[in-house]
This record gives sequence, structure tokens and C-alpha cells, in this order.
Amino acid sequence: MRPARISLDGAAARHNLKHAKALNNHQPVWAVIKADGYGHGLLWAANAFSDADGFAVASVDEAIALREGGFDQPILLLEGLFSADEAELADALNLQLVVHDPVQIDWLAAFAPEAPWILWLKVDTGMHRLGISFEACARTIAQLRQQLPNAQLNLLSHFACADSDPTFTAEQLKRFGICHDTVKNEIGAVSLANSAALIGVPAARIGWTRPGIMLYGATPLDSRLRPVMHFHSALIAVKLIRQGEGVGYDLTWRAQRDSIIGIVAAGYGDGYPRHARTGTPVWVEGARVPLIGRVSMDMLCVDLTDHPRKSHLQIGSPVELWGDNVPVWEVAEQADTIAYELMCGITARVKRE
Ligand code: PLP
Repeated sequence: MRPARISLDGAAARHNLKHAKALNNHQPVWAVIKADGYGHGLLWAANAFSDADGFAVASVDEAIALREGGFDQPILLLEGLFSADEAELADALNLQLVVHDPVQIDWLAAFAPEAPWILWLKVDTGMHRLGISFEACARTIAQLRQQLPNAQLNLLSHFACADSDPTFTAEQLKRFGICHDTVKNEIGAVSLANSAALIGVPAARIGWTRPGIMLYGATPLDSRLRPVMHFHSALIAVKLIRQGEGVGYDLTWRAQRDSIIGIVAAGYGDGYPRHARTGTPVWVEGARVPLIGRVSMDMLCVDLTDHPRKSHLQIGSPVELWGDNVPVWEVAEQADTIAYELMCGITARVKRE
């Protein structure tokens, strides 16, 4: 059996959710489990976060999988309907819908104008991805009231840089407040904070929060979180090479001294990032060692020369690519990407425990 495998820690996931709820002063939490539960498995994530007040997903397909999996919690479609013909399914599955464009109101009204839809009007407070402009809020709500008189209306927005730009985040909060003040008599609940805002922007802890990455323990923003995904493998070769010899494709790493090299069964064919730089930490039986040279499809190489127990290392010695000893965001940084992408990128051939 190839040793590359993922193990998922359900206790850590439940701990992280509890922490998110406490941070949000026990107001409701949507557990964001789109994109196959950030790569952890949609149903696995739904089970692990079953104490959340609801699940947020990106497509009707994900919602169907949840309902077929027996989950009857509220489900929020974060991008709402993609086309008119999804209205019937949304109704049958009892989904709550983001509305980010007036045409989505037309689609719902064409299918069931009198239905008690639960809708989350998405306001663009500055990210300029999805959402109606915050100045158009009142107008859109008037349209909504006319076309869908029995809909329950809520208000939602999304932060662009809650972990990197406090000034712009404050501006987004201000715009959300202006919009909310204008329409508050029409509005039930609000939803604003993602993980970064929930952790670092106390003023954003209002109503239903939407944490994703923090539930998976994959952010450095809060040291009380615990990693959920652990990417393990093992050494499949250990060898001595002479000073001056190169390692891996294109021999991009050259030994500055006689060296002990370890070969690990994990590569970009498993979802380990090919662009991880030489020096990226890899944990090998009790100690961190540096990745060296190019990551291949099935293998990567590490320098074991300074490992404190190097004489004990052998084929089968355990390796952690990320998890408790090497946080996933540290690997991501070394590959010029983000933890989200690494977790979503684990490939189908990697066994899961
Ligand atoms: N809300 C929306 C609309 C999102 O698109 C996302 C993630 O992309 C989240 C919440 C969760 O964000 P995070 O994983 O950073 O907490």
C-alpha cells in the first residue's frame, strides 16, 4: 500500500466549531462546507459540524448531497441560483438563498411568487465580486417585496480583506451599517463575518457568522484552533550522496556537503504543491527537515543530514507533510498559495482515514 494518506480529526473539528460559536457570543453559525468541505469531504464535514446552526455551500449539487446524506439542517446557497430552472429544486430541498442580482428575484417569482422563500440579500460593500451595490439596497428590497410578498428577508455581505486591511474592513462595516439602517424594518437576520473577521474584527460579530477556514484549523490567526487535516506519508528510500551531486528533476538542489537524502512518497499527483520551495519544512520521525529540489508527481526529497536521529531513519519512517507539526499554511506560504488551495487539492488517489 502506498503510504500517502490523509487523516481527519473529528474532535479537532468539533473543538474549532465550539470556539467559533463562543467567539460569536453564541449567535448562530453557518459552517461553510462548500468545495467538498474544503477538501475534507462534504459529508464528513457535515457530520463533524452537525452542531452548527446550518451549512453554507456553493451549489444545488452540494445541497442535494447533504439532503441525501440525511442532513435536515438549514442550508444556505452562498451564490444563490445559477439559473431559473434551479428554483424548483431549491424549493424542494428547502434551501435558503443568497440573492445577489435582481434577475434571481425574477426566477423565483416566475416559479413560486407566493412561496415563503428565505432569502439573504447580498450587498456589495466593497469586494466587488457578488452583490447589489449598497446604494441600491432599498430599491432592490422594494422590488423583492413586490415580486415575492411572502419572502423572509435577511441581509448579508462579505469582507475582502478582514485579515489584512483594517481600514477597508471598517469601511465595509460602515457601508453595511448604512444599508442596514435604510432597510432595517424590512430585514430579519444579518450575516457578515468570515473566519478572519470573526477572529479579528469584534464589530463584525453580529448575527449569523460564516466561518470556513477556521473550522478546519487552517489559519494562523488564532492559536486556539486545532488542525483537522493531517497529510501523512513515509520514507521510501534513504541514501548517501556526495558533495556537489544534484537531486531531483533538473538537479535544482546540489549538496554542499556529503548528505543523507530521504525520498518521501508524496508529490503533486497527491496534491502536495509542486511550487513548494527548497527549505519548506517536512516533519520526519520527530523532527523538521527541509524539502530539497523539485517536487515530482509521486515523490519529494528531503535533506536528512541534520536530523537528530538520522542513523535510525529507514524505509517506512513516518512523515507528516502537514498537520500538527507542520501547519498547512506554512507549506502554502512556501508555495506562494493559501491553505484553502492545498486542502482542496488533495487528489482522489490519497487514502482517507
Ligand atoms: N462566506 C462567503 C461568501 C465565502 O465565499 C466564504 C469563503 O470563501 C466564506 C464565507 C468563508 O470564508 P473563510 O473560509 O475565510 O472563513
